[in-house]
Amino acid sequence: MKNLLGSTIKDLESVALDFGQAPFRGRQIYDWIYNYKNKKKSIDQIEVLPLDFRKKLKDNGFKLGELSFQEKNLANDGTLKLLLSTRDNESIECVGIPTEKRLTACLSSQIGCPMDCRFCATGKEGLKRSLKVSEILDQILFIENEMNRKVTNVVFMGMGEPLLNINELLFSIRSINEDFQISQRRITVSTVAVPKMINKLSAKSFQLLGKCQFTLAISLHASNQKIREMIIPSAKNYNIRNIIRDCKQFVRDTGRRVSFEYLMLNGVNDKLEHANELSDLLKGFQCHVNLIQYNQIDEVDFKRASSKNLQLFQSRLFDNGVAVSFRKSRGLDKNAACGQLRQNARN
Ligand code: SF4
Repeated sequence: MKNLLGSTIKDLESVALDFGQAPFRGRQIYDWIYNYKNKKKSIDQIEVLPLDFRKKLKDNGFKLGELSFQEKNLANDGTLKLLLSTRDNESIECVGIPTEKRLTACLSSQIGCPMDCRFCATGKEGLKRSLKVSEILDQILFIENEMNRKVTNVVFMGMGEPLLNINELLFSIRSINEDFQISQRRITVSTVAVPKMINKLSAKSFQLLGKCQFTLAISLHASNQKIREMIIPSAKNYNIRNIIRDCKQFVRDTGRRVSFEYLMLNGVNDKLEHANELSDLLKGFQCHVNLIQYNQIDEVDFKRASSKNLQLFQSRLFDNGVAVSFRKSRGLDKNAACGQLRQNARN
């Protein structure tokens, strides 16, 4: 099956030529796919195309769109969580997070996840498979259609470890940037960190896309190796100091500062001694720390850190010269916040 979603304008011109059509027919398909106002999910709906061309496309196995709608949940703060089905009857979730000026799409890159971070609902179900480019991009179309707005920012923070699906990730970023017209600087790739993959990410991005301007966000969540292994079992394969070393190389290669996500867990990593340790680890490094309140899931007994500890931790990092901010959770009442996505609707 050939999906038109994720195709470049040149690809679509070639498709048109292959069917004896003028290249502008390819450009028409392109405009219909990527203009969010069109809301087209099937080839039949692209009415500007001649009927026989639409029929030939379908007869030859071409499709537009990959996923089907299963369920949606709107949180009190306007955050929308969508449960979508794949053609092989698996389910994935994605989230649209609106503010006045932005609509951020939080996308999944895999069905499930193999990394098994202890705080995360997605990891509890293991990995089913990685998503294809068209499945990643279709999440954006669904969010735009449901929220009736253009997506302005994209974060790969949904289900899955994006660096374990690196080719599809990068081809998706190409399309998000060139076809959906979202600057790479408005795209964030969040990873729990996989050995050798940080260097590979920048190298492959330059090779395939000619640039690497998206933000790399590392789910660090700890100030030392011991705590990190306790929270993220896969961390035993990748020492925290080697992660920092590879991130420094990423900054040298791309000129982009790295973000470190730090989930504040009560009694685990939220003390001032941890703030000092983290400051030492990140000293002299162009980076930014994002503190996140933990979103409770049923399966584990981590508790969110108190607001007081969070403030003290943030102040200590700031005093130690580390750029730091606090990211407020969105969509909590509908389990649409970080670490709460899973394959089954439980709203
Ligand atoms: S936090 Fe991310 S990497 Fe870890 S298990 Fe969940 S989805 Fe996978």
